[in-house]
Amino acid sequence: MSVREYPDLETFIGDVRKHNPGQPEFVQAVQEVAEDIFDFIADKPQYHEYQILRRICEPDRVISFRVCWEDDQGQIRVQRGWRVQNNNSIGPYKGGIRFHPTVTESVLKFLAFEQTFKNALTGLPMGGGKGGANFNPKGKSDHEVMRFCQSYMTELYRHVGADVDVPAGDIGVGAREIGYMFGQYKRITNQFTGVLTGKGLEYGGSLIRPEATGYGAVYFLQNMLATRGTDLSGMNAVISGSGNVATFAAEKVTQLGGKVLTFSDSQGFVHDPDGIDQDKIDWVKEHKTKRRGRIADYVQEFKNATYHEGKRPWSVPCDVALPCATQNELDGDDARTLIANGCIGVSEGANMPTTLEGVHVFKDARILYAPGKAANAGGVAVSGLEMSQNSQRRSWKEPELQKLLLDIMQGIHESCLQYGQQSDDYVDYVRGANIAGFKKVADAMLAYGVV
Ligand code: GLU
Repeated sequence: MSVREYPDLETFIGDVRKHNPGQPEFVQAVQEVAEDIFDFIADKPQYHEYQILRRICEPDRVISFRVCWEDDQGQIRVQRGWRVQNNNSIGPYKGGIRFHPTVTESVLKFLAFEQTFKNALTGLPMGGGKGGANFNPKGKSDHEVMRFCQSYMTELYRHVGADVDVPAGDIGVGAREIGYMFGQYKRITNQFTGVLTGKGLEYGGSLIRPEATGYGAVYFLQNMLATRGTDLSGMNAVISGSGNVATFAAEKVTQLGGKVLTFSDSQGFVHDPDGIDQDKIDWVKEHKTKRRGRIADYVQEFKNATYHEGKRPWSVPCDVALPCATQNELDGDDARTLIANGCIGVSEGANMPTTLEGVHVFKDARILYAPGKAANAGGVAVSGLEMSQNSQRRSWKEPELQKLLLDIMQGIHESCLQYGQQSDDYVDYVRGANIAGFKKVADAMLAYGVV
């Protein structure tokens, strides 16, 4: 038998598609990684002999369960919850929980797959996982959200643990939801352990965890710009999303002298030609978290801004773009528009926000393009630091954590250079991130033999 698992990439992807019917997001995430890994392992027989590529594309397990809860009208509602435990070769499963009506097994499998490489890139001992439910927290009362979170945790608790699987937040899951879930875990198990990250500061949370994903994506962008001898000062930035990642990314861009022009949500985007400064960012944060309002309301408050219903912000001319909303929010045409308008750098705060076609457009244009698994790893990195603090039963001070985040983002950038630098000095960050992440996980898998 040949040591090569598959004759070519197409056969491999065809096989993945066949084994995961109706899961386009998962197949897309696998393809994005396999495009680089396929030739990286071509001359490395050990990976073929142990079928590493095939094994890495198969989650350790997918747990799916019913989540029943009672709404404020006394009606019984039924949702589906999941936890995808993708790979724990280098540490306990780690990754967020997403509550959103678009959540499916395919979405969570893609996210858990991405998370595995992302977590490896941070250099911290964390495996990859992801969970969630097709529950929409929008428009629900606090008590409805509480009852849902408690019901979700009533099943999840038996599958997680500080040394087993450590969930955190993601879209639709923030401090409020983490609090309800941690409370329920503690109540059921009678244990106060670091089973979740993103906790409140009063009960074991870490400083700078809320800021970390957005700040980290901007630090990564800074590192990329530095390779071309430039920085963010005076640059125009287009940002999508208006949640935790987008607002803290905007804050850091502003602090570093850039001008933020846009925010968005699933209904449309706002364009503020005056720039979205710190006061306006604070207004957005409050509007989204306290009032749980829509970004469209921004234009009532700031009169020079315009709202574009049903549109995405990529047509606004900019120097740099930070997609911080959700998967597949930037397609091939959007990528071409950004480049035509002079965009030189893209740093992904969201997970897989660019379609495969968009990724190829960015790579072909040789702009600075950082995939989410590298650029948005700051969030989970500080989650890893929260785990360390919980294990030590102490909390570290802010300057220490800020420095660790900066160092980790710089380390990820260096790993991307190590494996992504091309002969003409162009850095293929997608390739660099894929290979660096893969290599660490794959080598641990080799050490364990066939398990
Ligand atoms: N959901 C975030 C991510 O996509 C954070 C996960 C975590 O902190 O565990 O990386």
